[in-house]
Amino acid sequence: MIVTVFSTKSWDEQFLTAANTHHAFRFLEAKLDATTAALANGSDAVCVFVNDDVDAPVIETLATGGVRTIALRSAGFNHVDLAAAASHGLAVVRVPAYSPHAVAEHTIALLLTLNRGTHRAHNRVREGNFRLDGLLGWDLEGKTAGVVGTGKIGQVVCSILKGFGMDVIAFDPFPNDQVTGMGIPYVSLEALFATSDVITLHCPLTPDTFHLVNPDAISAMARAPMIINTSRGALIDTVAVIEGLKSGQVGALALDVYEEEGDLFFEDLSNTVIQDDVFSRLLTFPNVLITGHQAFFTREAVRQIAETTVANLDAIEEGHDCENQITTSAVGEIERR
Ligand code: NAD
Repeated sequence: MIVTVFSTKSWDEQFLTAANTHHAFRFLEAKLDATTAALANGSDAVCVFVNDDVDAPVIETLATGGVRTIALRSAGFNHVDLAAAASHGLAVVRVPAYSPHAVAEHTIALLLTLNRGTHRAHNRVREGNFRLDGLLGWDLEGKTAGVVGTGKIGQVVCSILKGFGMDVIAFDPFPNDQVTGMGIPYVSLEALFATSDVITLHCPLTPDTFHLVNPDAISAMARAPMIINTSRGALIDTVAVIEGLKSGQVGALALDVYEEEGDLFFEDLSNTVIQDDVFSRLLTFPNVLITGHQAFFTREAVRQIAETTVANLDAIEEGHDCENQITTSAVGEIERR
């Protein structure tokens, strides 16, 4: 297949080339959107990442240009209009699992860093400032962690948090036996918000989970928790969480994802005036830590993404059933797995 790869970074080219069987990859740095979609004309497939726009007008342009397959280099598919893809006869395939440890371990890195201020301490020590003011943390041991979404990533997070001696509780409409087997109780979302010192989000972004952390949820939080989001930005109403941080209702916030990240993340904007005032406000808080969607970014995960993407393209080309194909009718089932 001729495959146009959008939003290519050096590691995409390196790992896709290493995993390639026989496809002709055309690597483009450009993000896929309405203005770039025609660059895929003449390709059999496009290969896209999380901040590419795969909405109905883009899909129409892709289909007109001969594209038959959309290969996602991600598990999440909230950025794809599946109905439009189906109506143009385009197959959509994804990478449902790649090292859940990568994302789970980054979640823990954010928790430990923000709690103990290691990022601030590092900068201070480099400046010859050895004072401890502002670095006071708290023991994780004995605190309550609420895990929202206990699929592949949430389950690993649960087991690491248990290792710290935390009391872990969970919410998921489809409980996971492995998690119950760790002695972790499932509770209502309201109870989780009310009793957690740490709240960490590991559910997909769907109409049900959009702004799951909203003003009502924040006012139900009784322990000024640290909220961690390594899933999808729009799980959190950012304006509401800023109000929560200002009032002290939210104790701290760690983000690897942001609802408007598409205009920011994965690029060097260090010489640019950032126009997003909400994001800029977040950067001013001493108790907010942000990384730019890097939770997936381990060698193991990037290699698995490339290998599964190539296997998906092989299966589609050979006309086999591709287990990683997403259809509108399979969405409910995927969310239950
Ligand atoms: P998964 O499908 O294995 O697990 C998701 C879990 O969420 C399932 O158990 C499901 O039942 C549950 N869920 C569905 N609706 C829910 C709701 N309303 N409330 C609570 N839970 C709900 O997915 P995963 O592999 O564990 O990934 C979780 C999320 O992490 C993905 O959806 C993706 O958005 C995100 N992710 C982020 C990165 C990153 O680099 N930051 C990388 C990979 C995945």
